[in-house]
This record gives sequence, C-alpha cells and structure tokens, in this order.
Amino acid sequence: MKRTGILFFPAFDWSLGDSHPEREERLLYTQEQLFEEGILDLPQIKQYSPRLASLHEALRAQALFPTPEVHSGSLDAHLIAAGSAILLGEARVRGEISNGFVMARPPGHHSGATSWGNRGFCSLNNEAILVNHLRARFGIKKIAIVDTDVHHGDGTQDIFYHDPNVLFISLHQDGRTLFPGSGFVNEKGGPNAWDQTLNIPLPPGTGDEGYHYVLENWVLPRLQSFAPDLIINSAGQDNHFTDPLASMKLTANGYGRITELLQPDLAVLEGGYSIEGALPYVNLAILLALAGEDYHHVREPQKPDSPALPLAALKPYFEALKNQHETIKPRFTIQGKAFFPQGTWIYSPRSVYYDTDGFEETRHDYIRECSHCGGTVYIESSRSTSPQKSVLVRIPFQACSECEQAGYDLWDHLQHHSDASTSGLLQNQLHDKLDVWSRKEGLRKF
Ligand SMILES: [Zn+2]
Ligand SMILES: [Zn+2]
Repeated sequence: MKRTGILFFPAFDWSLGDSHPEREERLLYTQEQLFEEGILDLPQIKQYSPRLASLHEALRAQALFPTPEVHSGSLDAHLIAAGSAILLGEARVRGEISNGFVMARPPGHHSGATSWGNRGFCSLNNEAILVNHLRARFGIKKIAIVDTDVHHGDGTQDIFYHDPNVLFISLHQDGRTLFPGSGFVNEKGGPNAWDQTLNIPLPPGTGDEGYHYVLENWVLPRLQSFAPDLIINSAGQDNHFTDPLASMKLTANGYGRITELLQPDLAVLEGGYSIEGALPYVNLAILLALAGEDYHHVREPQKPDSPALPLAALKPYFEALKNQHETIKPRFTIQGKAFFPQGTWIYSPRSVYYDTDGFEETRHDYIRECSHCGGTVYIESSRSTSPQKSVLVRIPFQACSECEQAGYDLWDHLQHHSDASTSGLLQNQLHDKLDVWSRKEGLRKF
C-alpha cells in the first residue's frame, strides 16, 4: 500500500496581523475539511507531529544576517515550519511513506541565500532547508524542486542558482504583473549550473487546461531528463480563481491533476490566500491525489465568474516562450577582487526589496567558475537601513579541493581584513560545517 504522510502546523503564535492574508485560518479550514471528509481515517494516511529545525539546519541553506542570534525569537514559527518539512522528508527517505504533504505556515519560497528579515511573508526557506538537510544527512545527490505557487519562487531560485545538482522549476504568473517581479526565461542558472533553473511565466487568466499543457509538454520532459532522486513540490494554492492576491484560474480539481502529473515525493505548502473558498478544497484534492484516491468529486463552493484563457490562445505563447528559452545563451561578467584566490570569478550584482520590513538589500555575488564542482560562492550583502555588512562564503556539496581551498582563503581574509561592522557565515556544505564570525564575537561554530 502507498502511504501518505501529512503534517499540520497552523502556527498560532505567528502573525503578521489579524487581517493579514497570511494568517492561521489558512490551515484551520483545511483541517476541518479533511476531518469532515474522513481523510484522516484512510488506512494509507499517516499523521506526523511538527518538530523544530535547529539553527544549524537553517544555516546550511541560508545566511541569516547580520548574525543568526538577531533572528532568534522571531524565528520560532519559521523553524517549526522548516523542521516539519525536514521531518516528513526524512520519513520519505527512510521509506516510511511513499509521499507526503507538509501543511505548515509560515511559507518560505521568497527567502533567499541571504536573509535580513521577512520578505513576501517568508523568513526561512522551508524547501531549501529540507533539501540541504537530505543531501547533508542522507547523501542524496539530485533533487528537483517544482514551484507551483502563483508567485515566482525567487528565494529558492537564489539559493540553488549555482547548484548543478538541484533542478529548480517555477511556474508562476508573469512577473510583469505580480510580486516579486522576477522569474523570466532568461534566468537559467549560474555559470556552473546553466540550465538547472527553468522559469515559466504564465499570462494572467491561465486555467487548468493551460497549466496542465505546460506541465505535460515542458515540465515533465525536463524532469525526466534530469532524473532526480527526489521531487519536491512547493505547493502554492494562490493560482485558484478565487485567490485575492493573483489573477489565475485554476480549480481544486486542476490542482489534483497537477499533483497526479508531478508525482512529488513531498508537497510543501506555500501560499494560497482564499482561505474559505479555495484552500480547504485545493489541499483536499492534492492530498487525495497523493494518496492515490479519486479527487474528481472535490468541488469548491463558488464558480468562476469568467472563463480561463482558452488553450488555443495560449499554445502560440508557450511555443514562443519555449523557443526563446532554448535560444538564450549564457552571458556572464568576469570580475573578481584583488584578494580573490586563483581562478575565474563571475560577478553579478543583485538587489532585493523586503516588502514586509521596507528596506532594500544590496548584494555583490561572485562565483568561482569550475568544471569539477558547483564552485565557491562569495556574497557581500548590506541593507539600506543599517551600516552593517555581511559576507557569505559557500563551499558547495561535492566541492573539488581547489574550490574548498578558495573558500577557506576567502574566509581567512574576511577575519583578518574586516572592520567592526562586518560579520560573516562560512557554509561548508562539503563537510557540513558552519562557522559564524564577527569582529565583536569572534569565531563560533553552529
Ligand atoms: Zn504565492
Ligand atoms: Zn570546484
């Protein structure tokens, strides 16, 4: 029998305000609906209880700036959401379940490789923390993340942009029409991970038919050629036609079919803000599809007030997009700093707006070009509201010896040549070691 794990964490203590769209009722109505439908009595359903992720687990995927302690306290709910993803991921890897659905909040996919606070309702990236945990602890090599939230999964993309062993695919409403304004086809990955990021922006009004067409004709073949050991679905329910934050036309049934097509090992809840009209039904359809049960009877109470874009109108758009995607050539800027270790360094500047707290993060990203591994990453980051500067040095999973050495040289340089306003994190993914440094506190292990 196929077993399906589920885990609820409504996070009663975490709130951005009673009328904020990201609030605890998002999960309470779902919980009621699943009880009513008797889902929890199905023999294949196994329920799990949440657990807290450690700071070590979080820092494997993300640098929390200026230092991890600054975030503690405000992070508890986020650490439980991330820990819940880890718990169900471990159950999957151990074979206790064949798939699972993490229904936890707060969501995470807008939180990137460096994080100064909350952004797009996200402070920690649940899927990224899960993925790096499974790689560090279980030696899993290749993982695909398919993000079906209506918003571009920019945080997840940022974390894995230079990682050749993680395929990141995001389907979302076109960034010209929706937060966070990114996720275009030319964002295809860094120099050592070119083509391991696939963005498919969809026009507002896309419905079940159009969505399924893209999955069948683009996403599934790409997944098949990557042949991942695990597929994680960042399952955002805000494509539903009743969602107040976006303009797509998916139905609960359409979501069931997405799950059936993707066959994820784990679905992790992201957004979805139509709390009564959509979430209970969408989550139910996803869960039934995971459990191998019929989901076609699941119907949301409301009917769409206008039809979705017809497939015939969408097909030429998809074909053009695919063409564009295939013809884009990598263009990178070679540029390093005087103190950088030997090698070719690729530079890309980046700026990230934190909508919740209202400040801008400015980043200077450098990656060491390498044909043997994912390459050393060096990121300088600062924010508009403070003079503090922070640095992330990342030695990747399966790093070659040159890239590992380059990482330690940079880490050494930081400690000997930085002023009092600078702090840093060394993310040694190769040996699962995490060091935090600041002039004031010195060197500490996490
Ligand atoms: Zn969303
Ligand atoms: Zn290397």
